[in-house]
Amino acid sequence: MSTVATSFGIEEALQKLGIKEVNPGTSTGNKWFSGEDTIASYSPVDGKLIGKVTVTTKEDYEKVMESATAAFKTFRTIPAPQRGEIVRQFGNKLRELKEPLGKLVSYEMGKSLQEGYGEVQEMIDICDFAVGLSRQLNGQTIPSERPGHVMREQWHSLGVVGIISAFNFPVAVWAWNTALAWVCGDVCVWKASEKAPLCSVACQNIIAGVLKENNLPEGISCIINGDYKIGEMMTNDTRIPLISATGSTRMGRIVGAKVAERFGKSLLELGGNNAIIITPTADLKVVVPGAVFGAVGTAGQRCTSTRRLIIHESVYNKVRDAIVGAYAQIKIGNPLDETKHVGPLIDKDAVAMYLNAIEKAKAEGGNVLIEGGVVKGEGFESGCYVKPAIIEAKNHYEIVQHETFAPILYLMKYSGEVENAIDMQNGVAQGLSSAIMTNEMKEAEKFLSYSGSDCGIANVNIGTSGAEIGGAFGGEKETGGGRESGSDAWKVYMRRQTNTVNYSDELPLAQGIKFDL
Ligand code: NAD
Repeated sequence: MSTVATSFGIEEALQKLGIKEVNPGTSTGNKWFSGEDTIASYSPVDGKLIGKVTVTTKEDYEKVMESATAAFKTFRTIPAPQRGEIVRQFGNKLRELKEPLGKLVSYEMGKSLQEGYGEVQEMIDICDFAVGLSRQLNGQTIPSERPGHVMREQWHSLGVVGIISAFNFPVAVWAWNTALAWVCGDVCVWKASEKAPLCSVACQNIIAGVLKENNLPEGISCIINGDYKIGEMMTNDTRIPLISATGSTRMGRIVGAKVAERFGKSLLELGGNNAIIITPTADLKVVVPGAVFGAVGTAGQRCTSTRRLIIHESVYNKVRDAIVGAYAQIKIGNPLDETKHVGPLIDKDAVAMYLNAIEKAKAEGGNVLIEGGVVKGEGFESGCYVKPAIIEAKNHYEIVQHETFAPILYLMKYSGEVENAIDMQNGVAQGLSSAIMTNEMKEAEKFLSYSGSDCGIANVNIGTSGAEIGGAFGGEKETGGGRESGSDAWKVYMRRQTNTVNYSDELPLAQGIKFDL
């Protein structure tokens, strides 16, 4: 174990979470299965090996699916509020283990410790939300056009839910899906990111204990591990009615098509290209922290990270100087050290993509205001630490049109009315998160109106990054159209059934049709 791991209590955290040197990567709950191949998980914090996880074999995948399909038949018969009780207990276990799990998230993925804890808090919050929801999976009663008839809608459990998750939220995305799926009576099979596999083992250990204490069958919570080939086993599997996939647009395009081909449902949470519009009345006290946290938080590796600032020309210089000034305060370093703002990128491939994007922006005519680059020297041996960069650019640049998962912020000007800025904000293929900074009520309302932002998330005087679990989360266009978490996102985890019951002695037909015999 490295000195970083020892001094920040990672060893102890791994022990509390039941993580070993080599961990079986396949599980149906309390049963674990090991293949021969392994994925090694190196920390981007110090480049050291944290542990290994075995890759799921075809045979073990079959065992998982048999177990999950059998468990579904039992689990759906348990009343929803009792399923909510299981989720409540799970939330309590997460409360107990918030510190070690948050540390593992930070060390394996590289986000700041505060954000690691925040991610576990999000898991706890969604559990609380799901517990309440377990008493509110309500259908509607609908007036029938026929006398002596009643119509209603019911929501039934769907089956096995397949979850494919990205590296940047290695535990919360799973919880967003499972907490809702479980109260809905579904069982889950999770393929975590191959870049943060130990987090999946830790989560499975936590829920397995809860399931055992409640004498529940194997198969309610399953994990499988490996790269995209293991994900493909699920996308092609007709026993899985819903695939919830979080990751790049490239991945979503493949997964969405494959699942649609077999008439499965998919919930896609894909890439963003998020902008903040800064109008002449914007308050710099709100703009600067909102934009800077949005652009450099999680080293620019959030789907909601701020990529573009669209600034009115009349305040452009003032805003640019304030943002550039704030960047000078940013401390890059070990994310477990709470005095640091920016940790590493996930791996060296991500560093190469970041460097490549800066070169492309320059080649297209971008004007570099804050030069990026790889941070070298003591404490940066992993080679994954980069400097947040700021580039003046145009919205139509090819590189600006794409999501680069790194701390690169593009600054651009708009002139005239807010509609011009909204056109620029909407002028990309992605549609996840968006924001406007204004004290002008009409501008704010225009931004939120039907002709305003085309994103799934549109904020006023708040940045693009970070969301509360109470709202439905997701985006339009190439972001995939899925909604997770709060509001009525639970409906995607259930199947809807319309019932008409005739309690009269006649059989009147709908639409007044006569069929006399
Ligand atoms: P990625 O697309 O490389 O991988 C995501 C997951 O998909 C991994 O588990 C991977 O193994 C799996 N996968 C890849 N190809 C597959 C295939 N053909 N079939 C089945 N599974 C496949 O993404 P990443 O680098 O881990 O994460 C970063 C991306 O995720 C960014 O684009 C980011 O915006 C996006 N993201 C979106 C949200 C959201 O809610 N919209 C949240 C987090 C991350």
